[in-house]
Amino acid sequence: MKISVIALALSAQLAFALTIPKPNVEIETPTRTARTLFTIEFAPGETRDVTETEKWELMKAGTHFMDITNYGDLHEASQNIAIKAAIAFPTKLAAQPSVTPLLAKLDKSNIESNLETYAAFHNRYYRSSYGKQAADWLFSKVQEVITASGSSLASARQFSHSWSQSSVIATIPGQSNSTIVIGAHLDSINGANPSSGRAPGADDDGSGTMTILEAMRVLLTDPWTLSGQAPNTIEFHWYSAEEGGLLGSQAIFTDYKNKGRVVKAMLQQDMTGYVKSGTKESVGVITDYVDTGLTEFIKIVIDEYCDIPYVETKCGYACSDHASASKAGYPSSFVIEASMENISGSIHTDRDTISTVNFDHMIQHAKMTTGFGYELAWTTEL
Ligand SMILES: [Zn+2]
Repeated sequence: MKISVIALALSAQLAFALTIPKPNVEIETPTRTARTLFTIEFAPGETRDVTETEKWELMKAGTHFMDITNYGDLHEASQNIAIKAAIAFPTKLAAQPSVTPLLAKLDKSNIESNLETYAAFHNRYYRSSYGKQAADWLFSKVQEVITASGSSLASARQFSHSWSQSSVIATIPGQSNSTIVIGAHLDSINGANPSSGRAPGADDDGSGTMTILEAMRVLLTDPWTLSGQAPNTIEFHWYSAEEGGLLGSQAIFTDYKNKGRVVKAMLQQDMTGYVKSGTKESVGVITDYVDTGLTEFIKIVIDEYCDIPYVETKCGYACSDHASASKAGYPSSFVIEASMENISGSIHTDRDTISTVNFDHMIQHAKMTTGFGYELAWTTEL
């Protein structure tokens, strides 16, 4: 009985997603004309003004950049951030007795059914009506997980932007406002046809999106974390418009910086679901443009809680939303599905489908995420 109810619910969700009419996608009219210039940053302090067409050409060529056009304040502040004493992250883990039982609760079938619905939206482009629908669906899913946990403290909200697709933020309050942020990006893009092309984005970054959602679900089964007793607060962020040049995360971290929010650590995961055949399965730990101490801490977490090793790799400047956290002066880190030369080759195309995704590999990322979140939420050393 229970199973058939679940199956019905799932098929209803799927039907909702699949019956969304195809093309005729409604695209927001950009407020800027094609001749308007955007300021793109390729490396710290290295900027160029480009047209929108040039911006998409760069994206298609795989060039990483931040579109800082509307984030001059964050950019300027980043140039003037006084060198702060680095946060000393724990060099040993302390929460194994609590974390280990949680890892056993991570459920591949949740990730699978969530991602199936999510990748069925025609695309999740940040200025398309599909992109808004997908982000709204994700928000309701996040709310559903929080409600099911029975927590009266945890909450979720949409962070709205100047475009229609909102970001999503979930908070599990702790004893202090010192916050550990765990992020992924909720949008997707077809590089050849950004505004209306099919972009399932199953791996990029539907995988990261559902990995951190499942880790959140499991962390909320811990009665002490659930009841707000952890020394630190945990937040889960799903950023809009990463593919537009890290726009959603820049807006959020500008807001956090302006409000004096204390973020002790930020972990981004962008692509967690692909294992290239013939390679040794591992987790890619990014070592460039990240906080060194936090990255060392992540290696310890992987050694302890994952069943596969990590491999160090580099992705260049601004390759995902952790770059926005760094700009605001927050220690940030980035973990990806493999060493960069072995990541999925289907991203930004209509071939980034669920058939390319390895759900066992996503469980490894979810183990790392759960261990990372629990250990840092419960440490009093930060
Ligand atoms: Zn991505």
